[in-house]
Amino acid sequence: MKGDVVRIRDVEAQRGTTQRGFVRVGETPVGPIQFPVVIIQGTKPGPTLCLTAGVHAAEYPGIAAVTQVTRSVRPEDLTGTIIAVPVVNQPMFQARAGFLSPIDGLNLNRMFPGSPTGSISEILAHVLLNEVVVLADYHIDCHGGDLTETLWPYAGYSLTGNPQLDEQGKTLARLYTPRIVALYEEGTPLPPTKGSLTYTAAQRGVASVLGECGSAGTLEPADVEIHVRGILNVTRFLGMLPGDPSVQGDRLRAVGQFTVTARRGGLVHLKIRVGDPLKSGQEIAEIHNIFGDIVDRVQSPADGIARIIWTHKAVNTGEPLVRCWIVEPERLDG
Ligand SMILES: [Zn+2]
Repeated sequence: MKGDVVRIRDVEAQRGTTQRGFVRVGETPVGPIQFPVVIIQGTKPGPTLCLTAGVHAAEYPGIAAVTQVTRSVRPEDLTGTIIAVPVVNQPMFQARAGFLSPIDGLNLNRMFPGSPTGSISEILAHVLLNEVVVLADYHIDCHGGDLTETLWPYAGYSLTGNPQLDEQGKTLARLYTPRIVALYEEGTPLPPTKGSLTYTAAQRGVASVLGECGSAGTLEPADVEIHVRGILNVTRFLGMLPGDPSVQGDRLRAVGQFTVTARRGGLVHLKIRVGDPLKSGQEIAEIHNIFGDIVDRVQSPADGIARIIWTHKAVNTGEPLVRCWIVEPERLDG
């Protein structure tokens, strides 16, 4: 953002100011459908970082983290511009809905780049991408486990083939994550999620990173803190705030994933927690029938780390129990 004024519709921030407002994308019968935007226009010119949360609006820690950052960063301390959308999907937020819009039943994070003539999720995707996210050089989309998921934190980036952009994206993902980095690439065991905001923004030339932390409709301070630390690490690395990023511990690179599903219906008695390292053949759950008989002992088919545990405990045949990462030590050259 090169000029002194940053403007998104009628939200306009002069250099050295913070401005809040709303961007209207449509209407329900009872009022506007809109999303909030906060523009922090630093005293000194520099890069533009966009922060979004609430694309899935029941993933609360990212929402709280983006809100917290917009309240704590002062324009006089900031070099460059932060454009933040703390809750993208307000209909979902209001309805406490997981994954899908209560208005058109679509998953917004599969709808990008959207369409100005589609249903409300498609319009929302179109406006968010074209009027907000592409204004930025860098972008973080904050997610977490949705209502039915307990999740181990990670960060991801969808490789584009543009070496300079991909280097930025990889660096930001490493700065964001407390441990696991997933780099998505076509033709690998971790293909990109087409239609997601971060994939589409990267295709448009924005170094756009997915930050995932939080679980199952909760708002735990420790999860908020992981998002906040990730955002501030990125912001400091980019020279937008004083101080150095703080990265602790080794990174692990996700190189694949597998999902363990139930063969038998019944009640799941899990023997693992999210984040646990698993060995091939390790027993991870018993399935009990309605009388308490053990009808199946579920084993991990490979070595991995438990990434998502679904919160449902009464399962039908074929339903997922655990999704795991296959990991390697991070290679900083790759
Ligand atoms: Zn999500």
